[in-house]
Amino acid sequence: MKINPARLETAFAVAEAALKNQDLPAYMTKRWRRAFAKAKERLIERPFFSWQPERLILVSVPTEKTNELGCRFYEANEQTCRRVDKSGLCQAFFEGFPCWHRAAFLLLGIYFGEICAGAFEKNQSQLAGGANCQLKLTLPIDTCANRS
Ligand SMILES: [Zn+2]
Repeated sequence: MKINPARLETAFAVAEAALKNQDLPAYMTKRWRRAFAKAKERLIERPFFSWQPERLILVSVPTEKTNELGCRFYEANEQTCRRVDKSGLCQAFFEGFPCWHRAAFLLLGIYFGEICAGAFEKNQSQLAGGANCQLKLTLPIDTCANRS
């Protein structure tokens, strides 16, 4: 199944509006917005994922730049993001930053109507107001415990 870019764009607008309602420091809002933008692009260009309401399995295909052998597999949800192809957390998540994997999970949640059901029936101004969409963008957890 191919992603419908127009619907994904709406999901992105919902996420962006919801972002404004989050009680996040400005730099985190900025990083989340960037993560959502990247997720939107990747999901259209390389829709290699398996989405379920509680988790997203995502394949990250290396770009020529990174010159990496093989793909990276991520499992992401609202709270966490980890590598499946090797044990451990996603690097960005480990460092306490939003990653595009978690952003993709949330975007697809909106896309499939799991989060903010009814967002697609709303008009643009309602969307811009946040559409009463409550995204759970958790702040970085204390990852010290993961460092061994
Ligand atoms: Zn990640």
